[in-house]
Amino acid sequence: MPSSKVTCRWRTWVEIDREALRHNIHVAKKRAPHAGFIAVLKANAYGHGMEEVAKTLAPHVSFFAVASCEEGVRLQRVVAKVPIMLLSAALPCEYPIIAKKKMIPTISSLEEAQAFAAVAPAGAPINVKIDTGMGRLGIPSAMAAQVVNEIGRLKITIQSFSTHLPSADANIKSTRAQLASFEKLLPVLQKIAPEAAVHALNSAGALRFAKQSDKLIRIGLMLYGISPIPSLQKLLQPVLTWKAHVALIRKISKGSTIGYGKIFTAPRDLTVAVLPVGYADGYPWQLSNKRVYVLINGHRCPLLGRVTMDQIGVDISRAGKVSVGDEVVLLGKQGTQEISASWLAEKAGTIAWHLFTGITERVQRCYLGPVRKTRISYFS
Ligand SMILES: *Cc1c(COP(=O)(O)O)cnc(C)c1O
Repeated sequence: MPSSKVTCRWRTWVEIDREALRHNIHVAKKRAPHAGFIAVLKANAYGHGMEEVAKTLAPHVSFFAVASCEEGVRLQRVVAKVPIMLLSAALPCEYPIIAKKKMIPTISSLEEAQAFAAVAPAGAPINVKIDTGMGRLGIPSAMAAQVVNEIGRLKITIQSFSTHLPSADANIKSTRAQLASFEKLLPVLQKIAPEAAVHALNSAGALRFAKQSDKLIRIGLMLYGISPIPSLQKLLQPVLTWKAHVALIRKISKGSTIGYGKIFTAPRDLTVAVLPVGYADGYPWQLSNKRVYVLINGHRCPLLGRVTMDQIGVDISRAGKVSVGDEVVLLGKQGTQEISASWLAEKAGTIAWHLFTGITERVQRCYLGPVRKTRISYFS
């Protein structure tokens, strides 16, 4: 058996393609040519690595958005110039730091606005959210005019009005109705805060409902190259490829079992590659014994038995000559084959957002291509 290659540096890693990130923001830009973009970088940029994604996208976007104040503080250390919006409701104990760091909290009630105003300097910006159907954050539409009127009297600045779409990928009719109800409210709200920006669209919204007049759009998943609407996937370039090196190769005879629970029995003699990646790296345990595969030598190699914490076994009997140290693709392209995040997530009974955010710290992040400080070379 050949020894492992000297080029092998990591057990398992993801490669993040900066050009693909730029391609995807460009696609968004084409769909709404007059809009600025809020790049959603929460949860470590959906597992892609917040700092490096932020550096790459900084020249192309108007705002960054994260979920929490802690994420915002971390982000600000890397890119100080792009303003940061916080998408989740903040805790009162976080208001002083949000104000001090000049981050933009999302406010859903008069009480929150008052508590923030009490600790924030005059004019501190806030994003006022209106609930038009998400049912999570936001001032209920029916009360919006009255509550915003009161918020408008505080010494903080309403920098934007926003709402969020619960089913822009699946339900065109209800989304249209929701957007219409938000637009109907806006003239009243903008009388109170005439300078305020407006944003409603997420990735599915941007792909399906973007229009010439949109001024600001909030996107996450599509930046990372995954379309929530399968028919539009071809527009985007997946940014992340998840790889591992073959750690061990074994012969398994017909009738023997592999892994915990003995749930897989070899139907014939098999050659098995053991890969140094498991559910502790974020490869879903729910894929155990499912009809999924990894790519080696451009061949599909079926997963065998359970996904364990640190290792999986795959069948390489039909993959040609495989050696310890060979490169394996768990997610992404190899040769003519591709394993898409949407497909793998579905096999695990989940969604691409969850699959990405589940990739743990143990998986090394590598970045391909230059950061590029300007946008001139790209947006011509
Ligand atoms: C996460 C999030 C987004 C991004 O959603 P995608 O579907 O990933 O584009 C947009 N808006 C809010 C409020 C969010 O929490």
